[in-house]
Amino acid sequence: MTPEKKAIFAQKLQAIQNQLPADTKLLLVSKTRSIEEIQLYYDLGQRDFGENRVQELSEKAEALKVSCPEIRWHMIGHLQSNKLNQLFSIPHLFAIHSVDDQDLLNKMLKSEQRLGHEVGIFLQFNTSKEEQKSGFEDYETLKSAAQSVPSNSKIKVLGLMTMGTLRTEAFEAEAKRCFEELNHLKIRLGLELGRKLETSMGMSQDFRIAIEERSNWIRLGTMMFQ
Ligand SMILES: *Cc1c(COP(=O)(O)O)cnc(C)c1O
Repeated sequence: MTPEKKAIFAQKLQAIQNQLPADTKLLLVSKTRSIEEIQLYYDLGQRDFGENRVQELSEKAEALKVSCPEIRWHMIGHLQSNKLNQLFSIPHLFAIHSVDDQDLLNKMLKSEQRLGHEVGIFLQFNTSKEEQKSGFEDYETLKSAAQSVPSNSKIKVLGLMTMGTLRTEAFEAEAKRCFEELNHLKIRLGLELGRKLETSMGMSQDFRIAIEERSNWIRLGTMMFQ
């Protein structure tokens, strides 16, 4: 790893940290990136990393478990239930942002004895209503999903996740509408459950809007590496 690369990563990290409000955290999306690049960001102080494939996440987590003892791994991609056992045995797994339907959640609850420690989940909501996006589609099913997690479970509902509409001409207005909707859902569901929930929204293209909407987690990949 070149010293130049370290300097570039340090600059990128500083630049983004300067823009983040106190209650917004950076989730660095490291999918397709190398072990060395992740280690570099870790050495610069970054702790939260996101991956969208279980196999890749599992390999990276194994490779880095000794040299990055404080790393927190986040699964952010669509999950198949036959990957749950592998996912649940990943060292330093912190949260799953892509819990997109009740069926998957039921299977997670059934396999939770595999978990060595607590893990957070974000219920994914389809705010853009695009057909290719997954996620809960209405408040009632979202609410019953949150309520289906027993209080003594190792699985803890941390909050809600969404993806803004991408690649449309009006993506900024669209992202704002999506993020506002998720904020409303977070407040409504939080009141119903009697506790504070977090949001996970915003990627390289629309993170400025997510910051304006006070997202608790922004998930940045592309812009942190190019
Ligand atoms: C890849 C990915 C991101 C990061 O997207 P960039 O455009 O690379 O910043 C965020 N969230 C999810 C769910 C992703 O799959």
